[in-house]
Amino acid sequence: MMNIIDLENQHTSGLYTKRPVAIVRGKGAHLWDANGKEYIDCVGGQGAANIGHANPAVAAAIAAQAQTLISCPEMFYNDRRALLEQRLCEISGFPRVFLCNSGTESVEAALKFARITTGRSQVVACMRGFHGRTMGALSATWEKKYREPFEPLVPGFRHIPFNRPEALDDAIHEETAAFIVEIVQGEGGVIPASAEFLMKAEQLCREHGALFIVDEVQTGFGRTGKMFAFQHHPIHPDLVCLAKSIAGGIPMGAVLIGDAIQELPPQVHGSTFGGNPLACAAAFASIDYLLANHLPQKAQELGDKFLHALQQIESPLIREVRGLGLMVGIELKQKVTPYLQALLEEGVLALPAGLTVMRFLPPLVIDQHDLEIVVEKVKHVLQKD
Ligand SMILES: *Cc1c(COP(=O)(O)O)cnc(C)c1O
Repeated sequence: MMNIIDLENQHTSGLYTKRPVAIVRGKGAHLWDANGKEYIDCVGGQGAANIGHANPAVAAAIAAQAQTLISCPEMFYNDRRALLEQRLCEISGFPRVFLCNSGTESVEAALKFARITTGRSQVVACMRGFHGRTMGALSATWEKKYREPFEPLVPGFRHIPFNRPEALDDAIHEETAAFIVEIVQGEGGVIPASAEFLMKAEQLCREHGALFIVDEVQTGFGRTGKMFAFQHHPIHPDLVCLAKSIAGGIPMGAVLIGDAIQELPPQVHGSTFGGNPLACAAAFASIDYLLANHLPQKAQELGDKFLHALQQIESPLIREVRGLGLMVGIELKQKVTPYLQALLEEGVLALPAGLTVMRFLPPLVIDQHDLEIVVEKVKHVLQKD
């Protein structure tokens, strides 16, 4: 049989640190490797698999649309796109939406919309924030390792300490185009923003005519226990960036556009694949599935129990266990990689967030029993030495 790992190693870009396992199949919250070994998946496609792997409703929608129409640029109107745009606005309360193909593209678009609306170019972002890897989104991203090899980046960006309301005062002013923030920092270590920080940021944006951008690429579509994480707080973002789980794992991004954004002039931004009927059909079916199966509420209930159970684990390795809904992190006092490898060997896939945080983003269709097994396995690997 073909050796998948050797073959990939010969031709891959080399940009990714890979685990020594070849995943070939999935169902719900479970994955199988090429040797037939089964895993409980708490990587969840890095947040793209909220409705579960090989979801039959989405698979059927994709198959039907693939046999009807895959390509249709936005120079034409399209039935699938019309219905999706309506649905995204309905579930978010926003009036308009821009469709693209990834998280970083949604951030890139939001930054451009902020510039064109305000006529300003300065952006305030947060330390430990992650917003993507294209040049604009990368300029808003904090991690040095991602930024430094590519400097100079886009000018006008600065980073302030996350969750420190007093740091906002000097940062947001008359020349600020936008403030961008995650409601729960994902890559930065699963750190929920405080209501106080978010509310003060919004208030300062209003006072100074800056736009308030929320990056929900990781937190959106039920992950944190609400359809969108900003709905946990009394805030009203002007632009919301979406991607990851928007279309059941099919690549897609979107920006929700609020009333503070003027009518966008034709041609100033766009995308060939943006709003293609295949992704729109997948997204529509995926959102339908989320709603029909009450997955945001499930994420809340299962997440609360999971968080509580993890917090009961006694191990000198653990610094803190935190999260919101089914977005959960365990901060260790040391590097997390060997423990993730040990978990993998025990049949549980999880991912890191930074060097020391073990992150869990299971599909929201995971059941209570699987989460109990995950807790047992985590306990086992963190109590071993
Ligand atoms: C993953 C992520 C991005 C980037 O999304 P890509 O689809 O990988 O470009 C941006 N913002 C946040 C918060 C993310 O988690």
